[in-house]
Amino acid sequence: MTAKIISGKEIAKIVYEEVQEEVKILKSQGVTPGLAVVLVGDDPASSVYVAMKEKAAKSLSINSRQLTLPKETSSAEVEGAIAGLNADPDVHGILVQLPLPEQIDENVILSCIDPAKDVDGFHPVNVGRLSIGSSDVIAPCTPAGVIELLMRSGFDPAGKHVVVIGRSNIVGRPLATLLTGRRRGGNATVTIAHSKSRGLKSITKRADILVSAVGRVNLVDDTMVKPGAIVIDVGVNRVTDDSNPKGYRLVGDVSFEKVIKLAGAITPVPGGVGPMTIAMLLKNTVQLANRSLELRS
Ligand code: NAP
Repeated sequence: MTAKIISGKEIAKIVYEEVQEEVKILKSQGVTPGLAVVLVGDDPASSVYVAMKEKAAKSLSINSRQLTLPKETSSAEVEGAIAGLNADPDVHGILVQLPLPEQIDENVILSCIDPAKDVDGFHPVNVGRLSIGSSDVIAPCTPAGVIELLMRSGFDPAGKHVVVIGRSNIVGRPLATLLTGRRRGGNATVTIAHSKSRGLKSITKRADILVSAVGRVNLVDDTMVKPGAIVIDVGVNRVTDDSNPKGYRLVGDVSFEKVIKLAGAITPVPGGVGPMTIAMLLKNTVQLANRSLELRS
């Protein structure tokens, strides 16, 4: 058996078309959705991600603004910058690119974002609202993208056993929350595994749907996957590749060439979860712009 490849690129394109329609409607009502991205420091991967987000926003005529601050910026200065964006009526979504330099406490900064402009859904109020199952909450982009990938490729997780490897606040935990919720893309039975889990293989082998969100090359091989399982690879890792002009290429956590032979479906890296994260960011921005309009009327 060879797994079906779930193309995040293709599904993201469809989401873009939907978002484009919503942007048109908003514009006809006098509102241009606005996204502000705060980048602190010069981490090369973060700069690439921010540039990709900006390009995607512009392609849909969403106003996109980037605030780049030097890596020695103090927490108070970042808080000040966010306060300015909170007060700006043209900004509907604020995203702080993570990770932040070590002198800055991520949780403090994320808590400064107005929850009504929290496009990543990382503010504690929104994390709490997601946990209690609020229907109108903005869900973090990568987990929301994973749910869309599954639903739009016909793999509804309802009633399935999903194993999520990784328990970070930006991927693993919110994904488990979405998967267990009483909502579209939810109603799954979820096991979360992490670096302290014992017998990882025996856990992953029981998964109908296996999601790896770790950041470790070849963490998941064919001995860890049940035949026919759906495998979603969130991991992004750089490996040296002299044949590539950049000197490296991106791979996921899953040994793609091995696992494709027995899985039912699998996401590639790149071209799987990554494009969906950006698509969901734009979808969330438009949702927040819509809400700001509702509040005005
Ligand atoms: P993170 O905060 O470093 O979390 C990694 C998680 O993996 C932790 O929970 C850790 O366990 C667990 N882990 C580490 N080694 C393990 C092992 N040997 N066995 C089982 N679990 C292990 O990372 P993250 O921010 O969630 O990101 C995870 C990956 O997804 C990264 O490669 C990142 O680049 C990628 N990512 C991709 C997208 C996208 O759009 N495609 C978006 C976000 C992140 P402990 O908690 O015990 O340490």
